[in-house]
Amino acid sequence: MDYTIQAGFCAECAHALVRPTNKGTIYLRCGLAARDERFPRYPRLPVLSCPGFQPMVASDRPR
Ligand code: SF4
Repeated sequence: MDYTIQAGFCAECAHALVRPTNKGTIYLRCGLAARDERFPRYPRLPVLSCPGFQPMVASDRPR
């Protein structure tokens, strides 16, 4: 599924943890939230700018 537009920066971030459900919903959790309170566990999407953004490498991309 292509969620790039809906998620903004999170869609390309190495800290994003994407969890699809059996019902077709996709949850996106910020992995930085566990160790840095500046970041919400479930960011309001789309995220249009973020100081924690770290581009994911090709092997991180969901297939
Ligand atoms: S660090 Fe920012 S861009 Fe990356 S997943 Fe968290 S909220 Fe999204």
